[in-house]
Amino acid sequence: MPAVMWFRRDLRLLDNPALLAAIEASGDGRVVPLFVLDPALWEPAGHVRQAYLIASLSSLNDALDGHLLIRGGNPADVVREVARASGAASVHIAADFGPYGRRRDEAVEQALGDVPLVRTGSPYAVAPGRVTKGDGTSYRVFTPFYRAWMNHGWRAPAGDVPTGTIWWQALESQALPAAPDLGSIQLPAAGEQAAWERWEAFRSSALADYDAQRNRADLTGTSVMGHHLKWGEIHPRSLLAELSDTDEVFRKEICWREFYAEVLEQRPDSARVSLNARFDTGMRWNTGPDADEAFTAWAQGRTGYPFVDAGMRQLRAEGWMHNRVRMVVASFLVKDLHLQWQRGAAEFMHWLRDGDIASNAHGWQWTAGCGTDASPFYRVFNPVAQGLRFDPDGDYVRRYVPELAHLKGASAHEPWDQPGGYDHGYPQRIVDHKIEREVALADLAATKALSPDSTRDRRP
Ligand SMILES: Cc1cc2nc3c(=O)[nH]c(=O)nc-3n(C[C@H](O)[C@H](O)[C@H](O)COP(=O)(O)OP(=O)(O)OC[C@H]3O[C@@H](n4cnc5c(N)ncnc54)[C@H](O)[C@@H]3O)c2cc1C
Repeated sequence: MPAVMWFRRDLRLLDNPALLAAIEASGDGRVVPLFVLDPALWEPAGHVRQAYLIASLSSLNDALDGHLLIRGGNPADVVREVARASGAASVHIAADFGPYGRRRDEAVEQALGDVPLVRTGSPYAVAPGRVTKGDGTSYRVFTPFYRAWMNHGWRAPAGDVPTGTIWWQALESQALPAAPDLGSIQLPAAGEQAAWERWEAFRSSALADYDAQRNRADLTGTSVMGHHLKWGEIHPRSLLAELSDTDEVFRKEICWREFYAEVLEQRPDSARVSLNARFDTGMRWNTGPDADEAFTAWAQGRTGYPFVDAGMRQLRAEGWMHNRVRMVVASFLVKDLHLQWQRGAAEFMHWLRDGDIASNAHGWQWTAGCGTDASPFYRVFNPVAQGLRFDPDGDYVRRYVPELAHLKGASAHEPWDQPGGYDHGYPQRIVDHKIEREVALADLAATKALSPDSTRDRRP
């Protein structure tokens, strides 16, 4: 009897334990490779991730000699139908620990009845829930989690698909949806091979300098692997296996991804609410008439702060933003514009090609100062000082903000100090950072004085 391999966030053949389990279970080597286009995930994904996913599925289909079975619909119905129609004895998946994924898989399990839904592996080197404190509770702070995660360790990469495997297309596949129009956005190549090529390029040219260069927005000092990891075109275990003792800083970044998956697993509601509840109920967020205007200026990269605007324009131009700049624009939204992090997180999820619920919600909560192990709220990023430090020659700003292309060197960060700084239509600053910083800090102090459950009046 064949087995169904239901691909989700593991669009690869190499080092894929769920796929190997399906092959083993099938007995005769016949595996039905399935991908379900689930409207609940597809529709909110945003055009960038939709386009990337289509390209990744197309690449997976090529690797499967054109035998990937694509079906649209509710997974509980689709997977049951495919299992029945192909006579499969089992359906294989990598475990999903996200709030929606868990519920979906339980529903599929029920719908399958006697056909087992077999979970093997996960999108993480160490599955959420495995790294716990001595008393069995979970970590809420990164550094001890990292130590325990290192002590726990992870398996070696699982290897390649054995010869003799038959990709069995028992049913007719639907066509992939047409890729949405991305305008001028250029996405990087998708798929397993592209992931390995990107990794090799990073490993040979930038990994050794990662610690020194990773914060420089103007350089390609990071791996730019987020979208490959998000879709499981490469497994983090495969990357960890390639690291040496000197690569600890990069290993820690992989661990942040695992830590945030762990936090989300423990607190599924933290995708939407602040872990520190007082931030949602007690702060005086700007909900007044100017809030939408401020949000739009931020989202479109027209705040008048060059480093912030360059970041938001990079997001719209590439579906990606450098990590340092993500922190600066997030801090600006929350602490200079006094808007809730959830609005910014939704905007990120709309545009980011590596958009991931756990890393995004907790990246925002960390910056906003309301999450697990958060940067303290009173650490307010100065958008100009950050720009001067992490884009010292202004190259990053000039790359994304053409109205400032005429300014030389670091002066692109401070057009207000340059004769002719605004000659090409760059907007004036919409707020004064020094003043808004004080407002944010005063609000924090007032909120701290409240009991954890209090609710303060919102701004008019
Ligand atoms: C406000 C905010 C929102 C974010 N949203 C996302 C998101 O939606 N998806 C996402 O994958 N990352 C997110 N991050 C984390 C980080 O910015 C990106 O993972 C990183 O910029 C991706 O680029 P890279 O692949 O070159 O990273 P590298 O520096 O090369 O790191 C390698 C990998 O480690 C992981 N990683 C690195 N830093 C972090 C981190 N701080 N948290 C979690 N994982 C990390 C990523 O998988 C990344 O691809 C967010 C950070 C912030 C501050």
